[in-house]
Amino acid sequence: MSVRVRFAPSPTGWLHVGGARTAYFNWLFARQRGGRFVVRIEDTDVERSTPESESGVLDDLRWLGLDWDEGPDVGGPEAPYRQSERLEIYRDRARALLDAGRAYPCFCTDAELEARRGQALAAGRPPHYDGHCRRLGAAEREAARGEGRPESVRFAVAAGDQVLHDGVRGEVRFPEGMVGDFVLLRSNGRPTYNFACVVDDAGMGITDVIRAEEHLSNTGRQLMLYGALGLPPPRFAHVPLILNRDRSKMSKRTGEIAVAVGDWRRAGFVPEALLSYLALLGFHPGDEREILSRAEMLEAFTLERVGRSGAVFDPDKLRWVNAHALHHASGADLAQWGAAFLPDAVRALPPPRLERVLEAVRGNLATLADLPSELAPLLGDAPTPEPDAAAAIASPQSRELCAALARELEPLADWSGNAFKSTLLSLGKRLGVKGRDLFQPVRAALTGRTHGPELPLVAELLGRGRCVARLRAAAGSPSTGGVE
Ligand code: GLU
Repeated sequence: MSVRVRFAPSPTGWLHVGGARTAYFNWLFARQRGGRFVVRIEDTDVERSTPESESGVLDDLRWLGLDWDEGPDVGGPEAPYRQSERLEIYRDRARALLDAGRAYPCFCTDAELEARRGQALAAGRPPHYDGHCRRLGAAEREAARGEGRPESVRFAVAAGDQVLHDGVRGEVRFPEGMVGDFVLLRSNGRPTYNFACVVDDAGMGITDVIRAEEHLSNTGRQLMLYGALGLPPPRFAHVPLILNRDRSKMSKRTGEIAVAVGDWRRAGFVPEALLSYLALLGFHPGDEREILSRAEMLEAFTLERVGRSGAVFDPDKLRWVNAHALHHASGADLAQWGAAFLPDAVRALPPPRLERVLEAVRGNLATLADLPSELAPLLGDAPTPEPDAAAAIASPQSRELCAALARELEPLADWSGNAFKSTLLSLGKRLGVKGRDLFQPVRAALTGRTHGPELPLVAELLGRGRCVARLRAAAGSPSTGGVE
């Protein structure tokens, strides 16, 4: 049977970095095996689910490049893929469990449940449901209905331990008595997470459930449900949590570090970096590599190499991975990722030129948010020199060099990076200046910085007019303008 995996977000907020990693692992698992990757929206919590959250989560997944084969937007053989549109299926399954005596109607009110929970805790007993309605006879049930009591469907938990053979954690035992009879359908007709999840994982033919460790205790309940429904459970793998520096769970609430994929995206991080960083939090490639591309992950990923303990999220490391991704990105990728960060004048450039400009500055980027400041020297008006650049053009020799270079560049027949370079080198030879003494003042004059893209490229991008004007300004003589 071919592999089917799923990512099942609850649309109650934005995509969390942990969710992104879970989605990535599922995607890798499916793509390695020619299987199917399904996205299912778990929106049965009507109060907290919103369409904006759903579209935000899907948009972040698309941005990460984690494409899915079946889902609410693309459809598929098991549609619908939103739980709120599958309520009839859950009611049907609940009816089957009621008929088989594996579930029963429960008429307890919230207030009654709360009071009995309190009593159990006070008496030192586990605060499980006490089985009150399991014992009702037909006449008592009818009477409760007659009173207009709320009616939910509760699972009759069977005796015995549950044993899970987890793809990451190995054997996990859920001892008998760990949970009380739990609700399958609420009195409003909506399923609980555990029930809907099992009905859908089974109904959608999911073969492997790869999800966060926080769901491990749910898996105990879910195994009981597979048993009661007479369905074979999928294989499970629970991946460890992502932690704050103090080893607390990195959650939406702690707020120490950005946990939303969208926050990193807006801060100028790129999908390749985020995916590589997140994957290696928890996955060990078996060698010293600290960055793995998607293609390398497709080669390397196995559940056996996912560790069992949580990993601390280190924003500085992510920044390093991001810088690496930017330094090695193609101009075309940078143009696509960086579109939202580009000044209008750059965005409007014809694509080949835009890509050259971006390749010229990529070596100085840590995030895409650095683009405007890195591009500024190549655009528009002359930038105010930074202090070290001002120092580099302060000496009379530097000024003379700039003035001489301006004079030689102005009448050049062709304007190109190469023509600029040979003019500069032969001028240097004549003046007896080379290396840093030659390049630094020119760079400072042209860009107002002492670091940046290679000079011939800078010259080519700036155009002759700006180069000559900036060199003259540095030399202290009035600009004659010039042609672009
Ligand atoms: N809707 C659940 C969540 O967002 C999915 C859990 C699961 O994968 O079964 O945590």
